[in-house]
Amino acid sequence: MPQAASGFPIREVVIVGGGYGALAAALALHKVGIPTLVLERAPTTRQEGFAWVALNNAWRAFEALGVADDIRKDHMPQTRINYADSHQVVYRSLDVQTVGPRKGLQRNEIRVIRRLAAPTAMADLLPEGTVHYGCKVVDVTTTPSGAEVELDGGQKLQAKLVIAGDGVHSRSAAKYHKATLRKAPVGSWRSLVELDCEQQGKPESTFYSGPNIRAGTFPCAFDATRKKMLWFFFVATVMSDQEMAGYDSHEKHVKGIRKHTRGWEAPHLEKCVSAAVPGGIQLSRIYERPVKAGEPWFEGCLTGVGDCAHATRPDLMQGGAMAVEDGVELGVFFREAMEEAGKPFGELTPAQIAAVLRKYETARSHRVAQIIAASTKTGNMFRRAGFLPRWLMRLVLAWLYQPFAFLDHTLWAPHGQLCPPLIGKHKDLASA
Ligand SMILES: Cc1cc2nc3c(=O)[nH]c(=O)nc-3n(C[C@H](O)[C@H](O)[C@H](O)COP(=O)(O)OP(=O)(O)OC[C@H]3O[C@@H](n4cnc5c(N)ncnc54)[C@H](O)[C@@H]3O)c2cc1C
Repeated sequence: MPQAASGFPIREVVIVGGGYGALAAALALHKVGIPTLVLERAPTTRQEGFAWVALNNAWRAFEALGVADDIRKDHMPQTRINYADSHQVVYRSLDVQTVGPRKGLQRNEIRVIRRLAAPTAMADLLPEGTVHYGCKVVDVTTTPSGAEVELDGGQKLQAKLVIAGDGVHSRSAAKYHKATLRKAPVGSWRSLVELDCEQQGKPESTFYSGPNIRAGTFPCAFDATRKKMLWFFFVATVMSDQEMAGYDSHEKHVKGIRKHTRGWEAPHLEKCVSAAVPGGIQLSRIYERPVKAGEPWFEGCLTGVGDCAHATRPDLMQGGAMAVEDGVELGVFFREAMEEAGKPFGELTPAQIAAVLRKYETARSHRVAQIIAASTKTGNMFRRAGFLPRWLMRLVLAWLYQPFAFLDHTLWAPHGQLCPPLIGKHKDLASA
C-alpha cells in the first residue's frame, strides 16, 4: 500500500473520529468505491455509555451497510415498552410488534445494543489500513483544493475531502459549523448491569417520569449459560455543572441517583442501580446543536456526521441512529454525483465535491432539525409533567400526548442504494 511521508496510506478522504457516524461514513463510501482514512484518537474502538436503544431507522441504516444481522444476533428484540410514573404505575403500554401499523412499516424493530457492537461490526468490514487508532486530530482547515488535517504529533495530511465525525466537542464544528452548540441543563446516568434470570422470557422495558427526571430500564441480552439478563438503565435529570462535578466516584453516583429518585417506588430500577459495579455507571452532560432546516452546516470540502453536525438530546433515542443514517446518505449522494458527472471520485473537482456536501447537509438538515426540536420538547414535557399530581400526570401524558409518536421519527429509509456507481466499466456492464 503506498504510504505518504506521514506514514499513513495515501487517501483522498480523511475521516476524523471512529464512532458511529465516522465508521458508517467510511463503510458507505467504501461501498460506493471511495477509500478513506479514519483517524480515531482512542487506542482502540471505544464508545461511552455502555448501550443505546436502536430503533427502526437504525436497523434500516445498519441493513444498508450490511452489518444489521451481525449486531442483531447478540441483542434481543424489545417486546413491550411501558410508560410509568415514579411508583411504577403504568399509564401506557406499547406492544412493540403490533403498535401501528406505522405508515410504511410492517413491524417495529427495537433493540438495546451494546455500545461497542456497531463500531466493531462496521470496522470489521472496512479494508485493512482504513482505521487508525491513537490518532488525535488537533485542527482541520479548509483549503482551495480540499482540506488539511493536523495531528497532535504535528503531522499534516492533505485531503480532497474531510468528514468530521469527532462527536459533540468536534474541533471542526467549533471552527466552521454555522449553528452553535448548546449545553442542556440535563445530566444522564447510564449503566449496563447483570441480574439473575432463569429464562429469557419476554422482559418488558419501562420509562419512568418524575418531577424534572426521566429514567428507564431495558433488557439487552440474555446469557442462557450463566442465567443472567443484561439490563440497561438510565436516569436523566436536571443538574448543574457544580452538582455534576461532585459525582466523582461509584458510591457518589449511586448516592446521587438515589437522592434524585427519593420517594420512588420503582423496585426494578432500584434493583438495577444496586447491581451496578464500580466503574459501571457513567454520567454525561447533554448537549444539542439546533441546526435549521434548509441551512447547510460547513463550507468547502469539509462536512460533518453525527453529533458533530447535529447533537441532540437523547429523549427520542435518535442521536446514534442519525449518525449512522448520515454515513449512509453521504455514500448515496456521492454515488449519485459520480454517476451524474460520469467520473470516479478521484476526478471530481473541489467545486463538485463541495456541491455534493452542501446537497447532503441541506437534505439532512430537514430531518435532523425536526428530531432535535422534538427531542427537546419530549424531554421537557415528560420532566414537567412529573410535577403534576400523579393521577393528573397519567391523564396528561396518556391522552394529551401520544408517547408512541416517537416511532414516527423512525420512518426513514436511505434515499438510494449503496452500490458501485454506474460509470466506466460498471456502466458498460449494466447496459450490456
Ligand atoms: C445519555 C445519552 C443517551 C443516549 N441514548 C441514545 C439512544 O438510546 N439511541 C441513540 O440513537 N442515541 C443515543 N444517544 C446519542 C448517541 O450516543 C450519539 O448521538 C452518538 O454516539 C453519536 O455518534 P458520533 O459518531 O457522532 O459521535 P461519538 O460516538 O461521540 O464518536 C466520536 C468519536 O470521535 C473520536 N474523537 C473525538 N475527538 C477526536 C479527535 N480530536 N481526533 C480523533 N478522534 C476524535 C472519539 O474518541 C469518538 O470515538 C445518547 C446520548 C447520551 C449522551
